[in-house]
Amino acid sequence: MKKDNTTKHYCQECKKELKRDQRPCPYCGSNRREIRANFHENMQIRESIGIRKYNENNLKKWIQRSIYGWFPSRNKNKHPEGVERTMSIDRTDPNKEGTYKEKVIDVATGEVVRNVEEKLINHRHNNKIKK
Ligand SMILES: [Zn+2]
Repeated sequence: MKKDNTTKHYCQECKKELKRDQRPCPYCGSNRREIRANFHENMQIRESIGIRKYNENNLKKWIQRSIYGWFPSRNKNKHPEGVERTMSIDRTDPNKEGTYKEKVIDVATGEVVRNVEEKLINHRHNNKIKK
């Protein structure tokens, strides 16, 4: 989740969206503002999205799969707001073994906690993405 662009400024009178430094309102001249913070709204969504791409000739065998979304952290003290996690398995290159990628970002600080890329064959312990 990006922390920039998280607040939007609106005129309280005519409800038009304004730039941060547009005062008074160019439409109606009002100085009253309504500021909405979108970051916290987004935080409530907390849903995970999975994407699969299947091999054209064999619909049962997927070639690319990824899961992206917000997850609660096992370590609540370290990451109280949870983490944003992207996991993907890529088998699009038939000459290579699959690649597993995982990136974990602390939602509160934006810090990259984990960023790995490894061969799928070395990656056996994860049960979030089943082979
Ligand atoms: Zn206005």
